[in-house]
Amino acid sequence: MARSVLVTGGNRGIGLAIARELSAAGDAVAVTYRSGEPPEGLFGVRCDVTSMADVEAAFDKAEAEHGPVEVVVSNAGITKDTLLAMMKEDAFTDVIDANLTGAYRVAKRAIRPMMRLKRGRIVLISSVIGMTGQAGQANYAASKAGLIGFARSMAREYGSRNITVNVVSPGFVATDMTADLDQEQIVTRIPLGRQAAPEEIARVVRFVASDDASYITGAVIPVDGGLGMGH
Ligand code: NDP
Repeated sequence: MARSVLVTGGNRGIGLAIARELSAAGDAVAVTYRSGEPPEGLFGVRCDVTSMADVEAAFDKAEAEHGPVEVVVSNAGITKDTLLAMMKEDAFTDVIDANLTGAYRVAKRAIRPMMRLKRGRIVLISSVIGMTGQAGQANYAASKAGLIGFARSMAREYGSRNITVNVVSPGFVATDMTADLDQEQIVTRIPLGRQAAPEEIARVVRFVASDDASYITGAVIPVDGGLGMGH
């Protein structure tokens, strides 16, 4: 039977590529979208991950359609870049709320049904910036680094239930999030000399969510063209 999968922020960018990849691999995929329309050909549920009620409702709908969620990919994320000296408290707490507390809300709702199933895959999308830091992104880096400790704690808590929790850590990916950045300046720092396509992140997520990755948990998997090498 097809696995029931939920991908947050699955309406565009990396999340959409992950949803399409898992769907093509035979999974029954639900994607959350916060604004606009659900993507064509995928089961969409409206959800803002800054609301626990939204997260609960999204899982309820995904479960009603596809059964208990066995694979969850926490991908939804935002940036609010500015140097610390200029950073208002809202810019810090909003980014933490969406990127880190959002992942908490999603994992919290996912974990009990996975415990009942006695299997599960939780994949959190972090960023190379969580390890290396980045000027202008103290809020974002803190949120993405936080995901690592969060994932590793869950990996310890639920490993005995056959639930793996891993972090995929992309580098510089061609999506709306990076469209306004100085491409040339960043690409010169990447050993592979180019941005990633969202599909290159999605294929790694497909692997860590698969049976082939049955002995991987608490891992941080860089998919960054060498940008964060050594971190
Ligand atoms: P995009 O900006 O293209 O897409 C972000 C997605 O997250 C959208 O679907 C958006 O929904 C959703 N989202 C944002 N906030 C919320 C929220 N509060 N509730 C629900 N959904 C929300 O980003 P990417 O595809 O580039 O990024 C996806 C993930 O990958 C993020 O976590 C990002 O930090 C991470 N990442 C990206 C990198 C890159 O270079 N692009 C590098 C490393 C990590 P909506 O359409 O409604 O706004």
